Amino acid sequence: MSHTAGSVGLAATPGPWEVTEVPTKPVKKDASKPKAPHCRRCDKRIYVPKGWSPGAATRRHYWSKHRNVMLDSSGDGGR
Ligand SMILES: [Zn+2]
Repeated sequence: MSHTAGSVGLAATPGPWEVTEVPTKPVKKDASKPKAPHCRRCDKRIYVPKGWSPGAATRRHYWSKHRNVMLDSSGDGGR
């Protein structure tokens, strides 16, 4: 706690709310991390290599399994 000790004069006596230990935080494991995405086309689990983002892995899966979808969706507007 490194507040700018200038405006606070009674910094010597911390309030009770500061002394008490912090109650156990609800620490969640990586619940928010989408680990293994599923392909919407073939409904298969997409393997995400280490260091890859799920999006990148999904794209890679699409390129290898559903290339036509990728080619079709990335139309340049009829050139
Ligand atoms: Zn697929």
